[in-house]
Amino acid sequence: MRNLLNKLKEYKYRNEALLVFYLAAITTVVIYRPDTIWFFVIGVGIMIPLEFIFRRHKMTTFHKSMFTDTLHVTIDPVLSMVPIALVYSVLEPLQITSASTAIASQPRWLQILEAFLFKGLFGYWQHRLAHEIPLLWRLHAVHHSPSQLNWISGERRHPFDSVWGSTFTAIPMVLTGFNLIDLGYLAMVSRVWDYTIHANLNWRLRFLKYLWVSPEYHHWHHSKEKEAWNKNYSGLLPIYDLIFGTFYLPKDKSPQHYGIPGGMSDDYIDQMLYPFQKHEITEEFISNGPVEGHK
Ligand SMILES: [Zn+2]
Ligand SMILES: [Zn+2]
Repeated sequence: MRNLLNKLKEYKYRNEALLVFYLAAITTVVIYRPDTIWFFVIGVGIMIPLEFIFRRHKMTTFHKSMFTDTLHVTIDPVLSMVPIALVYSVLEPLQITSASTAIASQPRWLQILEAFLFKGLFGYWQHRLAHEIPLLWRLHAVHHSPSQLNWISGERRHPFDSVWGSTFTAIPMVLTGFNLIDLGYLAMVSRVWDYTIHANLNWRLRFLKYLWVSPEYHHWHHSKEKEAWNKNYSGLLPIYDLIFGTFYLPKDKSPQHYGIPGGMSDDYIDQMLYPFQKHEITEEFISNGPVEGHK
């Protein structure tokens, strides 16, 4: 297996292969997920100017890993759509009728609020498991690899991390029968806010600290500072970090350095292979257990 991976890494035409793969991904996006183009436009048209005006750290907007990040932002929505479509077709007949009837009989605003709380709870545990189970952490490490955070580098994800994550959160939502349109709106809000919390913005939004996740809040989650490790798993609602004891937002300091021990290559193929290879520092990090190792 390792030999095969090394051969793949050293493949003579890897750049050409990557370009073909990228063009195929773009074509798939245009056909099956044209909404992704709009999200990209939001990113470029809104996030870049905001990062320019409210800059948190000094950094160049156009950096060398931008091509890799563009690949992630293009390919990820297509791949994560596959398991959700499967989950719906398999689990819809198994829907808990009493729960779906009870949900449908409530006012629309209450249904949206409940879907929000429910999705937040499962999203919290999905993210926490991604840090606490070594195999899942190896996949999730790709998301934590950027040493500089901005709106697009925060979209780095290993496809397997996205696939298991979106399946894990979709299962309870389908079984309980939340309205698909409401879930679609929630996914859109989450996506735009995901750009915002990773963006290089100096927004602390302290008045919302127990209500809504801010860029500062999530930047702590990506921080290299030990005291912040395994904290702030919530992507939208900090209440779950408060309930489960993982809330971290010190008054007097801000996150400075990001990334993972040992770092990770900025090359897309290297990132795809990372979870399946041996990395000395990561091995040591994992052998202590991501949680214990982080304390
Ligand atoms: Zn994480
Ligand atoms: Zn993140």
